[in-house]
Amino acid sequence: MPSDCIGPQALFECRRCGDCCIGFGGTYLADEDIEAISRYIGLHPEKLIARYCSRSGSKLVLAQGLDGHCIFWDKLCTIHPVKPRMCRKWPFIESILVDADNWLIMADSCPGIQTDVPIDAVQKYVKKILGEDN
Ligand code: SF4
Ligand code: SF4
Repeated sequence: MPSDCIGPQALFECRRCGDCCIGFGGTYLADEDIEAISRYIGLHPEKLIARYCSRSGSKLVLAQGLDGHCIFWDKLCTIHPVKPRMCRKWPFIESILVDADNWLIMADSCPGIQTDVPIDAVQKYVKKILGEDN
């Protein structure tokens, strides 16, 4: 099949395992994410940051709960409608364009990522949806 004809379902299908919601420091928050989550859970942004965020260098990230999962994980994402951009875009993220090998590295920890697809199809799709997002 020509790579132009490969759609997102052939590249990725989430298995809802939650493995991407565990571990420190992965989920960066843009200002829009803070605002959206604050509105969704009815908490002032400053309180959201104090209670539910940590810092990774100079950037804000979602904190972890005691079990190591994202603070908003409870067998599923409890802020799904407003989850941060990074979570919404996964696994079609900028780093795939920086280095295509990242697709395979990410697949090691995300069982939904298909590895038996042409990498140029993955990059084309990432370019397309990141372009649409800007
Ligand atoms: S690790 Fe991958 S397959 Fe599992 S929940 Fe996250 S995105 Fe879905
Ligand atoms: S916001 Fe939701 S999808 Fe993103 S890491 Fe937390 S629980 Fe997972």
